[in-house]
Amino acid sequence: MTEDPGEPWSFAAARTPGVYALARRLEDDRVDHAGTPLNDHALCGVTGIAVCRSVFDPNVPNVCPECREEAARTPPEPEPSGQERLHDMLEPAEGPLRDELRRLLRGGARVGPWRGGHAQTLAGDVVFDRIIEGADAIRKALAAAASVELIWARGGGRNFLVVVPHGVGSPAVAVQLPDPD
Ligand SMILES: [Zn+2]
Repeated sequence: MTEDPGEPWSFAAARTPGVYALARRLEDDRVDHAGTPLNDHALCGVTGIAVCRSVFDPNVPNVCPECREEAARTPPEPEPSGQERLHDMLEPAEGPLRDELRRLLRGGARVGPWRGGHAQTLAGDVVFDRIIEGADAIRKALAAAASVELIWARGGGRNFLVVVPHGVGSPAVAVQLPDPD
C-alpha cells in the first residue's frame, strides 16, 4: 500500500481485502474448497473439511467450481486493521487513557506487538517498573481472566500497553516509559 500524503489515515482506508481460507475434504484432499476458520462446511456446502492456514485461490486448476463461483458472488469481508480492532476492543473500557489511545488509533497510531494467550504467561512480558500510568488497572485486567490479549501501541509520543481480558472484566490501558535508546 502506498501512502498518499493528501489522504488522512482512516479505518476504512486501512482495511485489507478479505480472503477465504483454503479448505480440503478429509476424504478427498485433491480439491481446493473455500472455507472460513469457524465453519464446518465449505462455501459449496460440503462438510468433513479441514481448514488450512493457507488462502483459498480460485485460480488453481484443482479448485472446486462451486466454491469459486460462490466466492466471486460473495467476496469475503475486508479485514480491519489492528488499529480498528483495538479501537473496538477498547469500547467497554473507561478513563482518560482509554479516550486518549482511541483518539490516537483513529489517526493511525502504531499497533504491535499483539500477543494473545494465558494471562499468567503474558504477565511475564509486562515490565511494571516501566509503567508510569495505569499499572493497577493492568494488574486487575491480568487477574480478571485466564486468557488475555496483550497489546503494545505507540502514538502521540507515548507508549501504551493494553490488556484485554477474554470474556470477563474490562480492558485496561497503561502508559509506559519511552523506549530506551
Ligand atoms: Zn467447494
